Amino acid sequence: MNTKTNTLRMYHRKDHVLNAEAIASGALQRANNPGESMTTKQINYEFRERLNRILGGFSHNYCYQCGACVADCPTHRFLPEFSPRTIILEAMYGLEEDLIGHDSLIWNCTNCYNCYERCPQEVHPIEVIIALKNMSRQLSLHKPSVDNIINRVAEKGVTVAQTELVNRRRNDLNLPAFEPECIDEIRLLFEQGEKEKSKPDRSE
Ligand code: SF4
Ligand code: SF4
Repeated sequence: MNTKTNTLRMYHRKDHVLNAEAIASGALQRANNPGESMTTKQINYEFRERLNRILGGFSHNYCYQCGACVADCPTHRFLPEFSPRTIILEAMYGLEEDLIGHDSLIWNCTNCYNCYERCPQEVHPIEVIIALKNMSRQLSLHKPSVDNIINRVAEKGVTVAQTELVNRRRNDLNLPAFEPECIDEIRLLFEQGEKEKSKPDRSE
C-alpha cells in the first residue's frame, strides 16, 4: 500500500472537506513555529499508519483544528499545556516522540469525554488519546500506575481501588459492601487479549 497517497487523500465528515496535511502544516506553523514551515516530507507517515490501525486512532485524520475540544476540556483549564487539539495536531504530524512515552501529556487526560461531545468533526479526541495510550502500553512506554489499574480490573473488575473509606461511605449510603462481579468473564477477556497479542498483525 502506498501509505503517503493514502494519508494525503481528502477526508470529509459532516459536509466539511479537508486535507489533513495542509491543515496540520498551517496550524503547527502558527502554533509553535511562527518563523518556520513544516513540509509534508517531515511528517512521520509510518507512525500515522500505525495509529490508523489502532481502534479509535484513525479519526485523527478528520481534525480541522477548530479548537472546540479545548474550550470544554477540564484538564486544559488546570494544565494549560495540555490541549486535545495540540495532541491531535501532533498525531497528524506523526510526532511519536512527543506523544508516546512515560512523560507524555496524554496521561493527564481524565477520560471525561467532553471533547467527544464537542467536536463538530467527530474526531472523538478522547478515543485518539486512548489509542495513543494503547500504543504506549504495547511499547511498554506507559505510566507504571497503568499496570496497577490493569491488575485491579483483572482481579476485581474495577479501575478504582476499593478502600475501607469507600466501604464506609457505601455503608453510610445504605449501599451493600462491594463485591467483585463478572470476574470469570473478565478473565476470559484478558486471556483472549493475550491470545490476540500473540497473533501476527493481519493489517500489514
Ligand atoms: S474539536 Fe475536533 S475538529 Fe476541532 S480541534 Fe478538536 S478534534 Fe479537531
Ligand atoms: S476526555 Fe480528556 S481531552 Fe477530552 S475533554 Fe476530557 S480531559 Fe480533555
